[in-house]
Amino acid sequence: MTRSILPGSTIGVLGSGQLGRMFAIAARQMGYRVHTFSPEDDTPTGQVADIEVVAAYDDLDAVRAFARSVDVMTFEFENVPSPTADAAAQVTIVRPAGSVLHITQHRLREKQFLAENGFPVVPHATVRSLEQLRSALERLHTPAVLKSAGWGYDGKGQAKITSPADAAAAWEKVNTPEAIVEAFIPFEREVSVVASRGVDGSFADFGVIENAHRDHILDISIAPARVSERVRHESIEIARAILNQLKVVGVLCVEFFVTRDDKLLINELAPRPHNSGHLTIDACATSQFEQQVRAVCGLPLGSTDYHHPSAMANLLGDVWNTGEPDWQAGLAIPGVKLHLYGKRDPRPGRKMGHLTAIASTVEEAEQRVVEARRRLHKPIPL
Ligand code: AMP
Repeated sequence: MTRSILPGSTIGVLGSGQLGRMFAIAARQMGYRVHTFSPEDDTPTGQVADIEVVAAYDDLDAVRAFARSVDVMTFEFENVPSPTADAAAQVTIVRPAGSVLHITQHRLREKQFLAENGFPVVPHATVRSLEQLRSALERLHTPAVLKSAGWGYDGKGQAKITSPADAAAAWEKVNTPEAIVEAFIPFEREVSVVASRGVDGSFADFGVIENAHRDHILDISIAPARVSERVRHESIEIARAILNQLKVVGVLCVEFFVTRDDKLLINELAPRPHNSGHLTIDACATSQFEQQVRAVCGLPLGSTDYHHPSAMANLLGDVWNTGEPDWQAGLAIPGVKLHLYGKRDPRPGRKMGHLTAIASTVEEAEQRVVEARRRLHKPIPL
């Protein structure tokens, strides 16, 4: 019987971005103390945590000291180096385990894990040179997408290859010793399943969420997704099997492409709450962040029932292009909620916050959130 980590205990978070911030808010609401560790200060997580520790991830003495100060440790982004997770695990409980990080932070290891276990993945090949890329393209054809094997997110380290003549430019752009080339999937839509697994092996999912990307970055999510009953059932069963296979204790998101003939292909895994699950804060009985708290602390998983259909729109730094957004106008729309992450510098493409809307249908929720975001943009002065 594993000991539960009860409210009043201290949870450590490796990483300090918006995911850690929303996790810390959920944890503190439940009476936990939260310590965060990252190389930066005044971070989105640090602003709402009890203690913000500033040190490099490869300062393993600092990692161990941090781990000694908490009762359990989790992470908010998967690019924490494995030795960091291992050092922490020598001292405290780390959930999910470093082995989950190790697989999911590297596209090739992740694809290999999925393919070996019979999960449906995008046709792909490993490439370590321009010659290998050229011969892989003969098999996979174009269009294709070249992605660096490690440290990629939000389309970073990626290049689309529209014809074999683009191979050299793409190889130069991605500029990495090890990459993956994937067939480009002309998908019907993209969906995700955010799910959690408890210490006791229990499982809960937030259903299927539908996602639209712009410039490789998530733009809009809506739930429930407009998919067939079969796709709904299959995607959840795939998520359940992946969490079980990886023995995840925590939250994991599976991102899928739904093809034009209604088949599912896994794009990637994220071993943590996910941008597409942010709408669960306002739409569900338990948010994805509370669920992560419950899972890593050994509490029962909460109900994932939706109170309402819901939609989320990301607010990138671009929203500040014409000055401070017009919050008055955006928030006047019924059912719209604002979440900002406490980042000071609104650079283009940087995730600064999001809006959620609830409504009686997903279409109405989407309209509300899109209209609210549109109203934030001040007109450019003449
Ligand atoms: P990723 O960082 O790999 O999740 O890619 C970000 C986004 O780029 C995805 O959500 C898709 O919209 C698009 N994308 C990535 N890989 C592919 C692919 N093989 N086929 C079609 N679109 C893709």
